[in-house]
Amino acid sequence: MEEEKKLPSRKILVVEDNQDSRELVVKVLRNKGYQMIEAEDGEQAIEKAIAEIPNLILLDISLPKLSGYEVAKRLKEMDAFKDVPIIAFTAHAMKGDREKVLIAGFEGYISKPINVRELPNQIKAYLRGKWESVLGGEQE
Ligand code: MN
Repeated sequence: MEEEKKLPSRKILVVEDNQDSRELVVKVLRNKGYQMIEAEDGEQAIEKAIAEIPNLILLDISLPKLSGYEVAKRLKEMDAFKDVPIIAFTAHAMKGDREKVLIAGFEGYISKPINVRELPNQIKAYLRGKWESVLGGEQE
């Protein structure tokens, strides 16, 4: 019975150096049927992204070794990631940061701490291609 309800396989890479935060995201999304892959620093993020080619990447900005900005920039230079949404996952909710991440090559933005009830909807929307843009994003 469980099998029948399974969604088509959707692979998500979560890059977050804070273990509690990472495990919460993994738990919430795994419960929704997503296949979850984890990385805890910028270098590992690039290695795992290339090895797994996920359908979506949720990427912390403040990371050891390479920042989320650098990771996004390097991945977006590769053809394999042109159509993979890379979503910034950050506590930096200051005005202007949203534009900064979008300009840096991210397709969207999810603020920390996560809203456990909203996260699956946010992820689903990004997987469906509801990408934000600097000119026309969601209204606050
Ligand atoms: Mn961090």
